[in-house]
Amino acid sequence: MISVVVPIYNEELLLDELVRRTVSAIESFISDYEVIFVDDGSTDTSLSKLLSFRKDNSHIKVLSLSRNFGHQAAFTAGLEFAKGDIVAMMDGDLQDPPELLADMYSMIRKGGFDVVSGRKTRRKGQKRRSFYTFLFHLLFNKIAELENIGNAGNFSMMIRDAVDALVLMKEKTRYLPGLRSFIGFRQGFIDFVRDDRFEGEPKMSMTKLLRLAGDAILSFSRLPIRLCLYLGLIGVVVFLAAGIYLLVAKAMHFAVPGWSSTLLSLYFLGSIQLVFLGIIGEYIYRIYKESQNRPLYFVKKYYNGSQAEK
Ligand code: UDP
Ligand code: MG
Repeated sequence: MISVVVPIYNEELLLDELVRRTVSAIESFISDYEVIFVDDGSTDTSLSKLLSFRKDNSHIKVLSLSRNFGHQAAFTAGLEFAKGDIVAMMDGDLQDPPELLADMYSMIRKGGFDVVSGRKTRRKGQKRRSFYTFLFHLLFNKIAELENIGNAGNFSMMIRDAVDALVLMKEKTRYLPGLRSFIGFRQGFIDFVRDDRFEGEPKMSMTKLLRLAGDAILSFSRLPIRLCLYLGLIGVVVFLAAGIYLLVAKAMHFAVPGWSSTLLSLYFLGSIQLVFLGIIGEYIYRIYKESQNRPLYFVKKYYNGSQAEK
């Protein structure tokens, strides 16, 4: 059996098209499947629309979360509830073309891969947003302590063992594409053109995107905290050199009273210290969140046909 996990947050405008395309894409290569739509606390009619699809197709399941937890948490919830021997993750705005699921499936079944991730070769629409994501992936691949994952996002398919490994990692600060690379197994990639979203506005606001980028970098790279050490070391060398110069200048009586240089170095040191206090703060905040050990999400109800549904 195959499970396809799709997070949904206020997507009422495109659900019909999404379900139509996803179901027909899956049924083209397998008959035993479940599609788990994770309703991430939608405030529009998404949930009731999703439930209505269940009347005609019992393969469709709806995991309704108690509020909006963000799409990384929604994906995680879906992965934890998925029962398939093979599990796929796909965005719910049709930016990840469902038709690609068939290719991913055959890479796993015939190509011998355990994990297949979609790599975006080009993005349609949303020029500015795409440019920022491009920059993020460039930086992330440079500094993350992971195999180069190209610009792979969430769109992917995995065998059961890989899913089990993925959900075993319980950290609260989650960047699933990074975690998925971390688990190892035989990883394959499939290149695709990322479509523009089918309808509506992006549900990941720029703030949410930035936060995700920060989470990704802080949890997979030690560069930010290392920068602090490097700059500190450079500072030591510079100030040693300056000290020697000052001593020599004093000894040779050409020292001038230098307010400006003193002030400049004060400002410089002060601001560097603030920047790194900020970076250290980010780490401490994450340590704090991990130590609270709160669940990543709460489920309101799982509509999967096993209990009586309203
Ligand atoms: N999404 C979600 N919770 C959120 C934000 C987004 O479940 O808090 C879903 C959204 O409905 C979509 C997917 O996650 O199916 C990707 O969201 P979006 O298209 O806004 O992100 P982007 O394409 O910019 O990565
Ligand atoms: Mg999108």
